[in-house]
Amino acid sequence: MRICRFTTGDDPAFGLVDGAGEKIAEITGDPLYTRIELTGQTHEVADVRLLAPVIPRSKVVAIGRNYADHAREMGHELPAEPMMFFIPNTSVCGPGDPVVIPSFAREISYEAELAVVIGRVCKHVAPEDVHGVIFGYTVANDVTARDLQRSENQWARAKGMDTFTPLGPWIETDLDVSDLRITCTVDGETRQDGTTADMVFGVPEIVAHASAAFTLLPGDVILTGTPAGVGPITAGQRCEVEIEGIGTLRNPFVSADVGLDD
Ligand code: MG
Repeated sequence: MRICRFTTGDDPAFGLVDGAGEKIAEITGDPLYTRIELTGQTHEVADVRLLAPVIPRSKVVAIGRNYADHAREMGHELPAEPMMFFIPNTSVCGPGDPVVIPSFAREISYEAELAVVIGRVCKHVAPEDVHGVIFGYTVANDVTARDLQRSENQWARAKGMDTFTPLGPWIETDLDVSDLRITCTVDGETRQDGTTADMVFGVPEIVAHASAAFTLLPGDVILTGTPAGVGPITAGQRCEVEIEGIGTLRNPFVSADVGLDD
């Protein structure tokens, strides 16, 4: 199933998206917490505004340096175990939403990432059991202020500023994520072209490792790291992150100095 969250101008609703990504069958409630029941209403994707398919209930757990070629391009050794940091849920925005670059951040980068959406309260999940706690997968852009990441020991500002974690366009619940193509383009030019098969730590290990440290809640999101090819993006440019089997997450980048309307 593909589950989206959308608005037609009223309160946000959830819906099931067809395979072509064109039609939405509206459902009642929030599928993370309630059974899926169709309302009978249908919409064209083109006629609605898609929203972030999940607002993390408590946290985004992100994994750093989880692709060897990316760790190498940044001049780092591979971590011995998954390297984790938190991103606040206020950093999340949706498909099409502008990523707003504050005036105090000078060097912004995109990071194409597979995002895991947790579906159940869990703790100490074994790698072989993680499929039972995963609700589905979506596409993320782990936008990073590289200058702040270098100058500050904690990555809270570098990674966690408002709008720096676009998610979408929807959650795919039935997917083998062991070998999916993951790409990123800026203004149509390919910058990243990798595969999830190159993760240092796979999804089962990452979820198990995170759950050993933190109780995971329904709607928590785990970002799984980015392949090689990260680089600068500036206000006025558009970024597209695509993952095979899920879809494409598109976001314009704007400067906070200019404002959203310019
Ligand atoms: Mg990242």
